[in-house]
Amino acid sequence: MAIDLRSDTVTLPSPEMRRAMAEAELGDDVFDEDPTVNRLQETAANLLGKEAALFVASGTMGNQLGVLVNAPRGQALIADGLSHTLLYEAGGAAVIGGVQLLPLATERGFISSEQLRAAIAPDDPHYAPTSAVALENTHNRHGGAVWPPEKLRAVCATARDLGLRVHLDGARLFNAAVASGVPARDLAAGADTVTFCLSKGLGCPVGSVFCGSAADIHEAKRWRKMLGGGMRQAGVLAAAGLYALDNMVERLADDHANARTLAEAIAEMPGCRCQPGMVETNMVYVGVADAPAFAAACIQRGVLVHDTDPVTLRFVTHHGIDAADIQQAIAIIGEVARDAG
Ligand SMILES: *Cc1c(COP(=O)(O)O)cnc(C)c1O
Repeated sequence: MAIDLRSDTVTLPSPEMRRAMAEAELGDDVFDEDPTVNRLQETAANLLGKEAALFVASGTMGNQLGVLVNAPRGQALIADGLSHTLLYEAGGAAVIGGVQLLPLATERGFISSEQLRAAIAPDDPHYAPTSAVALENTHNRHGGAVWPPEKLRAVCATARDLGLRVHLDGARLFNAAVASGVPARDLAAGADTVTFCLSKGLGCPVGSVFCGSAADIHEAKRWRKMLGGGMRQAGVLAAAGLYALDNMVERLADDHANARTLAEAIAEMPGCRCQPGMVETNMVYVGVADAPAFAAACIQRGVLVHDTDPVTLRFVTHHGIDAADIQQAIAIIGEVARDAG
């Protein structure tokens, strides 16, 4: 069977998770009557230290709500230049939110207080007023980077001083929590709204959760309905989320260890540029001369990998991959590297 290292989104629900889904108590969630969705939302809000939460179809929908709730139409939202919101959400911030993104070039996705201050537009008719900032933790395109908690606290405090709202794209917030040893609620403390994905390393088939104040969630619920995201007996999906929050968080440390092992081996291979010291979570980015050709050769030998750009490969570990798979992948990637060199 192929070793699928393309993404942690390829994870399949375990038999125990499927059982939890099959046995979930259901109701109509648009009427607030699905007890399992309600329980997931309460659990998530408590975990992240927010007043309320909303179950949504995807991380993209959660981030879209983050735009709609935090940045009024015609205003500007600051984000890292390699952020998911800027690159991979089909332009939704502009199309649906009517918001102008202000991208910043950063080190590892960590927007500094100085950068934030400098990015605020003056009160002048040439500029869209700056109303919010989006942060990403872990940072996907920066290699699964984990925000140092003190940097995150500092930039959130600066945003508050400047009157900016903060949305945290925590698609992999629990990876950040496990890697840094800081509880997710502390990582979320400085943000007004937070999204996290159930469908990635946590292993659920579908879903994300958007968290914030009761007022923000009340507003987000109308936007979710407008986007077509009002789901009915969604407890069948929320049950997987509840199972994951109880059973799938601590094990993310295994994915991080596997990614580090993979990175250390790849760093020794000819023609491969990789910094194992930068691998903090479950992603390994590797520079090669011809990424599509390298990826095709890996795939042919049974290691599925994603070419992020013409010279970059991305390997992602997850619960479908164990230490033996990593050793087998290392052997195969090593053969491809030798052949390519
Ligand atoms: C995957 C991802 C998302 C969006 O998630 P989907 O559920 O695929 O829409 C948002 N932000 C980051 C950083 C991601 O990696």
